[in-house]
Amino acid sequence: MMLDVQDIHTYYGDSHALQGVSLSLQAGETVCLLGRNGAGKSTTLRSIIGLTPPRRGRIVFDGQDITGQATWRTARMGIGLVVEDRRIFPTLSVRENLEISTYRRPGSTGQWTIERIFDLYPMLAEIADRDGANLSGGQQQMLAVARSLMSEPRLLLLDEPNEGLAPVIVQQIGELIDDLSKTTTILFTDQSVHFALKHARRAYILEKGRIVHQASSEDLLHDHAIQDRYLSV
Ligand code: ATP
Repeated sequence: MMLDVQDIHTYYGDSHALQGVSLSLQAGETVCLLGRNGAGKSTTLRSIIGLTPPRRGRIVFDGQDITGQATWRTARMGIGLVVEDRRIFPTLSVRENLEISTYRRPGSTGQWTIERIFDLYPMLAEIADRDGANLSGGQQQMLAVARSLMSEPRLLLLDEPNEGLAPVIVQQIGELIDDLSKTTTILFTDQSVHFALKHARRAYILEKGRIVHQASSEDLLHDHAIQDRYLSV
């Protein structure tokens, strides 16, 4: 088991955002966390990496209890997060954005170098000298994912990687996820079912801070009642 989230409750002040969320990922799986705006998807990812530690429940990563651990520590242990706003440094070039993220975890293999990233994603090599401020949304998202790879995550968390992107870019992000899923365990969030179905083997659905359904992607595709009830069209 790579990740085991057990009945977590997370609050913003008095607001009870996660009300007993449980989910788990086997090593090597790509899983999607679905749900409408405000359902608690981001909070679940934030809770896993320690940005908003849960008040109750337990999170186990690769056999180790990481509940409430500081974010720098979960990053060191091998959990990478790409957030919705992507956090690209606007005054640094694409290459520099990658360079400052180079961090070798103890025990990491050094497989991800800037050269390797540029080899695999020539689109980024072409814009290596462009400032972060001058990137399109899709380029920013590619860079954000590539940057997270520099720390060689064993578990990659992607928060709505398609948010605000044109369909052609969404397709590229999908290909990137497919490619990464060959070597990395991935949990990503999305609001609609279509992207999830194409790129994840199974999915959990969140509603008002609770997991209300889980199914294989294939079963979800045919389950229009569930889609209508819990997901955006
Ligand atoms: P979105 O697609 O909008 O990101 P989401 O499913 O990721 O939605 P969350 O962002 O996790 O949902 O929000 C879950 C709940 O927590 C919502 O009711 C939201 O209003 C609340 N919430 C999120 N961030 C904060 C915050 N910083 N302070 C207070 N409440 C928050």
